[in-house]
Amino acid sequence: MRMRNIFDYTYEELNDYLISLGEKSFRTKQIWQWLYIHKVKSFDEMTNLSKELINKLKNNISFDYLVIKTKQESNLTNKYLFSLPDGNYIEAVLMKHDYGLSVCVSSEVGCNMGCKFCESGRLKKIRNLESFEIVEQIMLIEEDLKQRIDSVVVMGIGEPFDNYDNIIKFIKIINNPFGLAIGARHITVSTCGLVPKIKEFMNLPLQVNLAISLHAPNDELRSSLMPINKAYPLAELMACLKEYIQKTNRRITIEYVMLKEVNDSLECADKLANLLKGMNAYVNLIPYNETSHIEFLKSSKNQIRLFYDYLKKKGINVTIRKEFGSNIDAACGQLRAKEGELK
Ligand code: SAH
Repeated sequence: MRMRNIFDYTYEELNDYLISLGEKSFRTKQIWQWLYIHKVKSFDEMTNLSKELINKLKNNISFDYLVIKTKQESNLTNKYLFSLPDGNYIEAVLMKHDYGLSVCVSSEVGCNMGCKFCESGRLKKIRNLESFEIVEQIMLIEEDLKQRIDSVVVMGIGEPFDNYDNIIKFIKIINNPFGLAIGARHITVSTCGLVPKIKEFMNLPLQVNLAISLHAPNDELRSSLMPINKAYPLAELMACLKEYIQKTNRRITIEYVMLKEVNDSLECADKLANLLKGMNAYVNLIPYNETSHIEFLKSSKNQIRLFYDYLKKKGINVTIRKEFGSNIDAACGQLRAKEGELK
């Protein structure tokens, strides 16, 4: 059996394990600090542990890392392609905002959601990422930059709620105050709308932000772009989001990718405004990142502006997402797709 990776343990799990070995609880904090504050690369470097404990840990827990295969850099973004222990590839994007550094992590190898405009969906899901493989995306980028990451968005390759347990564990690990200590309000999970998982998520005592990839204001259009809408149509999704807002008292983000002459008319804006009326939500209009394999085009700047103005006029909170990384293949899945073709 493959050994479990040290970055796969939540604080509580590591504590339970150490207690089962007859250790005291303070050891957990010590090890956690070695991992996430001093960022050592082996148990041998944990100099305040006994040789005996180090040997037990080495025999039972692995310390493997992902490897940065390639990195593309621009002034606003870095894009990292990682190879995983089993030889698969995933990617993460660093965004340099004026308010801090943000990393967009992948949650799966490939994706089964099949959204028509999305590059990641062209490569079907091979497997879930383990929690450590998501944690290490952040660790390795911090190491590369020698700087701390301020916020994390789970918006890379994959559907996080299709890998729900590992994503929740990942959030607990990076949120822990003794470790990377990334505040829950600085973590955003984006889903295409898996209603049962949104329901589970709203009952967790975590103040993490939720973003919904909506992309269309009616079922006909949404189903044609996003097959998931056939399983969880808009009425069901919107009712669930209202319940989420009521229960958590948190505002949700609605993502809306602007596709030329597909979903960017003012008629769509009007339907969207009606759908969101009175909801504690804000809309993030995403300029589409065109990819060579997919026929969708990006809306013109002018059309995005008109759509934005229309929503504003209707009293909807809205922003236009700053374009990051279109010059470095940073649209989800693009780097991995390229690598796949090279192989
Ligand atoms: N599966 C999750 C998270 C990954 S996709 C979700 O659907 O939310 C992250 C976001 O990027 C989604 O809103 C997705 O629709 C959007 N997206 C996918 N391809 C894109 C592209 N080429 N340009 C801009 N946004 C894209």
